[in-house]
Amino acid sequence: MPKATTAGPLSTPAVSPRLLATALGVVTLMLLLTYLVAFDQGAVSQSGMFLHELMHDGRHLLGVPCH
Ligand SMILES: [Zn+2]
Repeated sequence: MPKATTAGPLSTPAVSPRLLATALGVVTLMLLLTYLVAFDQGAVSQSGMFLHELMHDGRHLLGVPCH
């Protein structure tokens, strides 16, 4: 009779959950920053044209339509 073994994970994940959470957090922050720099125009941030003027050269560098 075969000896019973304890059940363990069938396979280990290729990416650790902590690394995955960190990567998703970084991607989310980058998307938020991209939105604020390129598309917000004060609509969500309620900053008027402050962010637009602050990021103006970066907007041109990225090729975002400006004026
Ligand atoms: Zn411009």
